[in-house]
Amino acid sequence: MRSEGSIRIASGEIMEDVIRIRPLHFVDILCDYGAGTDVFEPHPFGHAVHTVANAMIANKETMLEITLEPDAVCIPCVHNVNNVCDSLLDRTGRPTAPVMMRDWDLAINQRWCRRLGIAEGDRFTTRELCERLRDRKGDINDIFPEIIDNRIKIKAVNLDKGIEKFLGTA
Ligand code: SF4
Repeated sequence: MRSEGSIRIASGEIMEDVIRIRPLHFVDILCDYGAGTDVFEPHPFGHAVHTVANAMIANKETMLEITLEPDAVCIPCVHNVNNVCDSLLDRTGRPTAPVMMRDWDLAINQRWCRRLGIAEGDRFTTRELCERLRDRKGDINDIFPEIIDNRIKIKAVNLDKGIEKFLGTA
C-alpha cells in the first residue's frame, strides 16, 4: 500500500505526494510547457500552478488524482473562497460561456473526462496521464466549442509540443 504524506520538491516547497488535479489544469500546464515555459513562476493570484507544474516536470512518476473540485492548484488561490472559485470568466472570445469561471471550468473538465475516459478519484502518474492525453485527446475544438477566435489552434499546437517535450519524444 502507498504511504501518503508530503514531499519536498526542488524549489523547496512542500507538496502532498498525491496531487489532486483537474484535467483542465493538467492540460494548461502542458500547453504552457509546450509554449516554452520550462520553469513555472508564482502567479499574482497566489495559486499553485507553478508548484504543481514544477513537481510534474521534476518527476514524471508524480502521482495525480483526478478531481473536478478545486484542486492543488486552486487551494492557495485568492479566488478560492471556502473551496469555491469566485472568479468571473473573461468572456472575450467566448461570449456564450458561463459568467462564472467555475461553471465553464466544470463543463471543460467534464468534457475532458469523457474524452480521456477518466473519472474523479482515478489515479495516474503524470507520465501515464500525459500518454493518455496524447492517445485520446483528438480534436480539441470539441472541448472548447465556446471559443470563437483562433486561440484553440494555438492551444492545440502548444499542447502537442508540450506532450512531446514532456514525454521526451520531441
Ligand atoms: S480555478 Fe479559480 S480558484 Fe482555481 S486557480 Fe483558477 S481562479 Fe483560482
